[in-house]
Amino acid sequence: MLTKIQKIGEQSLAEAKELLLQGECVAFPTETVYGLGGDARSDEAVEKIYRVKGRPQDNPLIVHVHSEYDLHSLIYDDQPYVKRLREAFLPGPLTLVYRSRGKVSAKVSCGLDTLAVRIPEHPGAQRFLKYVDIPVAAPSANRSKHVSPVSAQHVYDDLNGKIPLILDGGPCSGGIESTVCDVTGSYPVVLRAGLITREMIEHAVGRCDAYVPKEGERVRSPGMKYKHYAPACETRLFSSAAVSEALAALNEAVRSGRRVRVLCEDCIAGAFPAEMVLNLGNDGIEMAENLYRLLREAEACADLLIAVEPHERGGIMTGVLNRLQKACAGE
Ligand code: AMP
Ligand code: MG
Repeated sequence: MLTKIQKIGEQSLAEAKELLLQGECVAFPTETVYGLGGDARSDEAVEKIYRVKGRPQDNPLIVHVHSEYDLHSLIYDDQPYVKRLREAFLPGPLTLVYRSRGKVSAKVSCGLDTLAVRIPEHPGAQRFLKYVDIPVAAPSANRSKHVSPVSAQHVYDDLNGKIPLILDGGPCSGGIESTVCDVTGSYPVVLRAGLITREMIEHAVGRCDAYVPKEGERVRSPGMKYKHYAPACETRLFSSAAVSEALAALNEAVRSGRRVRVLCEDCIAGAFPAEMVLNLGNDGIEMAENLYRLLREAEACADLLIAVEPHERGGIMTGVLNRLQKACAGE
């Protein structure tokens, strides 16, 4: 199959709609990462999404709709705080997990009675979702377990030959996947950290917990148990207090002839040879935006990536650190 990359416009949108209605997958930009979209109402289209990505069958998908879509036709909205949450943060990089009305393919939620819905704010995503005007199931448009794509070229590098069309909306500014927040209970619970932070949600509605799986409990965020976001090269992760250990590891690897890159925050970059540094930047917003692009740069030119954790904790850094740790974790 030929994979085309096309800028978003009347013609490419018409083509995207036709493809989706035929049960094909189309990649599209959002403010977080690129999504691999399919018609959420169709079992066949949803199966294709899993197949194209090589995604485990028990990791549910997020349904994307435009901001005027009749959300309540898809979900039950039982909790009084949810409206306030939507008003504060949507459209935006926040996915809410509701009780499902069962109006989309059961394969979207992998048999759960909940449905995760996101209303992205990216103008290209809004335009695409309005044009097709159906619920679009979409995970990140990468091969399962690989680094998420933040440009059309990244999608192409992973899925060339497997999908017919990539809608190109330029690089993603957010950089890490949406916050996933369960709103079925009496207060919201963050299942996956992201750009809308637990602290921001707490500020908006008074209480918000972060989900911590308990021993033996059925996991509420199936996607979080997998190895994820991993570059093709070997990785080693050092804590923010272990800069000298990271430098020693770098020197040893260079002596044995390996091609090395160092991923670290700006304030410690000076400790490493400049030509080897992939600089994450200074704050959570910059680091989120840069992380996946730099992980992909690392795998393109290095055998070994030495990553040093940024020192800041909480807020957006919760999501950034979570992705970095998973990217550098073993199987
Ligand atoms: P991705 O599409 O790769 O960004 O991953 C989607 C994330 O949303 C995964 O972590 C899923 O586990 C989570 N998710 C999707 N649907 C649900 C749901 N119904 N309940 C809980 N988590 C969900
Ligand atoms: Mg993903």
